Amino acid sequence: MGDTEGQTTYRVMVLPGDGVGPEIVAAAQRVLAVVGERFGFGLDYEEGLLGGCAIDALGAPLEDGLIERCRPCDAVLLGAVGGPKWDTTDPAKPRPEQGLLGMRQGLELFANLRPVRSFAALAHNSTIKPDVLDGVDVMVVRELTGGVYFGKRERVGDIAYDTMIYSEAEVERLMDYAFGLARGRRRLVHSVDKANVLESSRLWRSVAVRVAAGHADVELRHMLVDNCAMQLIREPRQFDVIATENLFGDILSDEAAMLTGSIGMLPSASVGAGGVSLYEPIHGSAPDIAGKGVANPCATILSAAMMLDLSFGQKEAARAVESAVEAALSSGARTRDIAVAGETVLTTDQMTERVVAALAGASG
Ligand code: NAD
Repeated sequence: MGDTEGQTTYRVMVLPGDGVGPEIVAAAQRVLAVVGERFGFGLDYEEGLLGGCAIDALGAPLEDGLIERCRPCDAVLLGAVGGPKWDTTDPAKPRPEQGLLGMRQGLELFANLRPVRSFAALAHNSTIKPDVLDGVDVMVVRELTGGVYFGKRERVGDIAYDTMIYSEAEVERLMDYAFGLARGRRRLVHSVDKANVLESSRLWRSVAVRVAAGHADVELRHMLVDNCAMQLIREPRQFDVIATENLFGDILSDEAAMLTGSIGMLPSASVGAGGVSLYEPIHGSAPDIAGKGVANPCATILSAAMMLDLSFGQKEAARAVESAVEAALSSGARTRDIAVAGETVLTTDQMTERVVAALAGASG
């Protein structure tokens, strides 16, 4: 963060990545410029290579020194990485996802946040009945750097095993973060585990209880992961914050995401151990539509809104961006992925301009 002539300027590392990445990141930057002007802050961008584009340019999926360049920034904004060009089964060849994993590990991004809110204007895009979705506002907090993704694994003869491993400290920082978030929301945390079967879940549950004791104003409820998968579809409004381990969170957050009907609408944040956080849409590089100018920019624009809120503390600006996206949708603005038969389909640029227009038109 800097200060130029009395105006705060935030330093953002931009990683456009592959496929639709550059198109949607440019859309988010366009919205950020307008919201910055309105709320009186500036943005200074640096750019880095991550994913397939880094493999093409440098032979490795993570540009040398990129993590060190990210650390002093106020935030990292990522498009998406990957695509068929770099798909390989050869373990010796570099893969774009290795760059992303390296980033998460290097920046110690231990919690992935996925807000899931229903957009009234898109109620009919979901496979779930509109009255079940009305008013849904869930934050899934997934542990991102532990569990079965990082435990010992091996294949020996005709057997294979993976290990789900957690330390109390890993669970504690995740739960602490979840409780802090819930305090600014509806003050309810569902800790999701499989404590009837797994020892790591019993440890998870005992740490959750201990952390809850330090947050007396937030209610803690425990739920088994299989029940949670069912309850998310049956009555999603019962949830405020869902805090869970890596693998359960991976599955539940995708399930929760589909409540809103389109992958092109959903943002995410990966927050670090007190350092820089990373913001990205939940979707991938969408190679099938890359370069056609038809990608939905909303997930990335909403990720930028999360960045304004969580990394810059610009809460009003964040709400203004979210309201502008909602206003654009309510006025009928649709990209191909969220349009139903008969609706006019906008390009990425046209959709972005509708959000910008709503932002400029809003009072405040
Ligand atoms: P995907 O999310 O890229 O695409 C799935 C479907 O959703 C496609 O039909 C695509 O056109 C559509 N879609 C995605 N984003 C959209 C948007 N903004 N607007 C409109 N439609 C959109 O998933 P995939 O096809 O399984 O993966 C493609 C590549 O992306 C793979 O290489 C995968 O590894 C990678 N990937 C990267 C990330 C990441 O960077 N975090 C996440 C998931 C997948």
